[in-house]
Amino acid sequence: MDIIVLVKQVPDTTDVKLDPKTGNIIREGLDSIINPDDLHALEAAISLKETWGGKVTVISMGPLQAIDALSEAIGMGADKGILLSDKAFAGADTWATSFTLGKAIKKLGKYDLILCGRQAIDGDTAQIGPQVADYLQIPQTTYVCEIEKVNKKSIFVKRQLENGYERIQCVLPALLTVIGELNMPRYPDVGRLISACQEKAPIKFWNAADIGVKTRQIGAEGSLTHVIKTFAPKFKREGEILEGDTKDAVRNLIGKLAEVGMRSE
Ligand SMILES: Cc1cc2nc3c(=O)[nH]c(=O)nc-3n(C[C@H](O)[C@H](O)[C@H](O)COP(=O)(O)OP(=O)(O)OC[C@H]3O[C@@H](n4cnc5c(N)ncnc54)[C@H](O)[C@@H]3O)c2cc1C
Repeated sequence: MDIIVLVKQVPDTTDVKLDPKTGNIIREGLDSIINPDDLHALEAAISLKETWGGKVTVISMGPLQAIDALSEAIGMGADKGILLSDKAFAGADTWATSFTLGKAIKKLGKYDLILCGRQAIDGDTAQIGPQVADYLQIPQTTYVCEIEKVNKKSIFVKRQLENGYERIQCVLPALLTVIGELNMPRYPDVGRLISACQEKAPIKFWNAADIGVKTRQIGAEGSLTHVIKTFAPKFKREGEILEGDTKDAVRNLIGKLAEVGMRSE
C-alpha cells in the first residue's frame, strides 16, 4: 500500500501570541514541531505499511528548516520525504497551499492513500485535506478516529461527529484527515533518526519549477484570500469578586444588579 502523508511544521504552542504592533505571530523562543494531528497520520501510515507492505512518502511545504519534520517522520518509519521549498511558495493561503501540495502528489504518480492531520495548530483552518482531495478528484473522509479494515479496493473508517460516530467505506485511492483519538504515535527510532539527518537521507527538495507551477498560481500571488489584519480580541468586561459572608455578598450583588437596572423578583 503506497501512502502519502502531508506534514506541516508548526510553532510549538497552541497559545499563539501576536505582536500588538505588527499583528504577526511572535516566533522568538518557540521551537518548531510536527503538527500534532500529523503525528497520528504518520503513525497510521507506518502501521498500515507494516501490515500491508508498500511505502510511506512524507511531503511538507515550508522553509528549509521543515527538513527537521521530514527527518523525524523518517525516524518514525516513513521511507522518504519531499520538501517543497521555494521563495515563490511563501505567503500562500490555503488555496495556494493545497494546489502546491496537489501538484507535488500528481508528480509522485501512483498512490493508494493520502493521510493528513485534521488541522494545523497555527493556521487552524482544517481546509488543506479537503481541498487537496478536491483538487485530485478523489474521495475524502475527515475526522477519522479509527481505521477498521482495509482491502484492495476500500478503506473502512470510523469518523467522529459532534454527538456520535459515523462508519464509512471509502473507495481507494482516498484522502483521510485524522484526529488524535486514532492512535498513539511512536517515538522515532534513534538509529533511523540519525541516518535521516545525514547527507544521504532519502529527502528530495522540489521547487516551483520541479512541480511545474507558475509564480502566479502559488504563494501570495496565487492566493485567493489575504489576511488584512490579525489581532487578539480585547476583553471589554471586567469581573468583580464580591467578598464577605454569603448574606452580605448576595445583598451586595442585588444592589449592583439594581444599579444596572435588573430587578430581583
Ligand atoms: C484567509 C487566509 C489567508 C492566509 N494568508 C496567508 C498569508 O498571506 N501568508 C501566510 O504565510 N499564510 C497565510 N495563511 C496561512 C496558510 O494558508 C496556512 O498556514 C496553510 O495554508 C495551511 O493551512 P492551515 O495551517 O490552516 O492547515 P490545516 O488545513 O488546518 O491543516 C490540515 C492538514 O493539512 C496538512 N498541511 C497543512 N499545511 C501543510 C503544509 N504546508 N505542508 C504539508 N502539509 C500541510 C497537514 O496534514 C495538516 O494537519 C492564510 C490562511 C488563511 C485562512
